[in-house]
Amino acid sequence: MSGRAFPVVLSAPSGAGKTTIAQELLERRQDVGYSVSCTTRAPRPGEVDGVNYHFLDRAEFDARVARGEFAEWAEVHGNRYGTLRSTIAQVLGAGKHVLLAIDVQGAQQVVAAFPEAVTIFVVPPSIEVLVERLKARRSESAEALALRLQNARKELREAERYQHVVENDDLASAVARVEAIIDEEALRRDRLPALGAEVEGLVSTLLREFDRQH
Ligand code: ADP
Ligand code: 5GP
Repeated sequence: MSGRAFPVVLSAPSGAGKTTIAQELLERRQDVGYSVSCTTRAPRPGEVDGVNYHFLDRAEFDARVARGEFAEWAEVHGNRYGTLRSTIAQVLGAGKHVLLAIDVQGAQQVVAAFPEAVTIFVVPPSIEVLVERLKARRSESAEALALRLQNARKELREAERYQHVVENDDLASAVARVEAIIDEEALRRDRLPALGAEVEGLVSTLLREFDRQH
């Protein structure tokens, strides 16, 4: 029995590990695809245009906003980030759950547009660990890092809006928890449109078997 594919929204304060969890998940699951976001922030060393993000300048980003191309977008840590409608449609159209690693503002817009979306908030095991991970990533200047930590306070308070919360202590355990959530959600009765027909099939077989035996 399998139901329709759905969006899976992963949010977390910067450095909590949502990108790492998403990457692991994509390596392990054929039934999940990644929504590559657009952003106006500069690529980090090693980031590839079209793979990690579509890197756009501000004018191009705003033109796409004006054309209504984004399913959601938001200003985060001083840059703009957004999810293209076409990206979501492409992944869902291929029959895969679409994984969106996006901020709390974007998550609310996705839930409004896709009420069937599953929302997961990733929390670090402690603030000390969050700071350590952010510093070890060496991806931001001192000011950018301070801004991300300042915003983490607001973002953590949004955790209660999410359906699920996963602590990213040990990476493998956190990935396993996210996988379990996806599997469990996929089996919810209201996500199984063909359930009625399948149950009817089982009942008919049962009746035939009963007739044969009596
Ligand atoms: P986010 O996407 O939420 O900003 P990242 O996925 O970039 O966070 O993770 C931040 C840093 O922490 C990265 O250097 C990553 O390798 C590391 N990291 C992520 N998860 C874990 C974990 N469970 N244990 C140790 N380090 C982790
Ligand atoms: P980073 O610069 O560390 O890659 O991402 C910074 C923040 O922007 C993170 O909270 C991340 O989840 C968020 N983000 C990334 N892509 C999107 C997007 O498409 N939409 C929204 N709303 N936020 C995004």
